Amino acid sequence: MVTCQTNFALFCVYFNEVINLLLILIFTLGATLASCATCCAFRFCKNISAFVPRSFCDNCYHSLTWWQLLPILGWAIQKGKCHFCDRPIPILSTALESLYGFIFIWLFFHSANLFSFTLIAGLLIWLLVLSLEDQRGMEVSSFCLYCGALLFTLWASPQVWWTIKTSWLALLLFFGVCLLFEYHGQLGPADTICVLVIMLVYGFHFGCWLLLLASTIFLATHLHDAPQTRHAFLPSLSSSFIILVFFQIY
Ligand SMILES: [Zn+2]
Repeated sequence: MVTCQTNFALFCVYFNEVINLLLILIFTLGATLASCATCCAFRFCKNISAFVPRSFCDNCYHSLTWWQLLPILGWAIQKGKCHFCDRPIPILSTALESLYGFIFIWLFFHSANLFSFTLIAGLLIWLLVLSLEDQRGMEVSSFCLYCGALLFTLWASPQVWWTIKTSWLALLLFFGVCLLFEYHGQLGPADTICVLVIMLVYGFHFGCWLLLLASTIFLATHLHDAPQTRHAFLPSLSSSFIILVFFQIY
């Protein structure tokens, strides 16, 4: 009896350790991908290659060493300032790294399977790159937009076929309305493509909820702005996707 209890206690300790290690790994994955997304968005906006040159401070242009690139830790070790020029490092990247780290952990334990987890995680990172680009320069890189759209449509092809088969008329009408909005300058092609991809993957209903929530967030955040001012819509869309995924409305 004593041996049995000891073995069970040991199993519990090991199981706890494995879960803790898994949590750290998933958090690191989310934080690292968010960090890459922030870097890619910055580079796409400045027409710099995503791979060359290596990461640098955007004030003094000094190349960053490996420990300065560590998600969250790099910022904390440098006390929020560039190691070379002392300029404060914007908190946005670190905040996004922390947020996406926690989102990934939540997703991992609430997704139906690994396929579902990787698909949502991939979509979140794709939307993050596009949102940051849209927020910064009111435009997104065609490569990232179209390659991402193609990748996710192929990745979730069984779900996409099902949505087309069951809601093709509604999709066509929706696409027509989006084109009308685009014609009148109320919507950009990137907004339409992102909504359509998510709609194809998660169904017409989900797409409608997403658009409704995104429009509400967009209106609430720009309520007091001048009517003619142009604003990025993708950050609202991205936030809405996180909220809907969080409440598992898919
Ligand atoms: Zn610097």
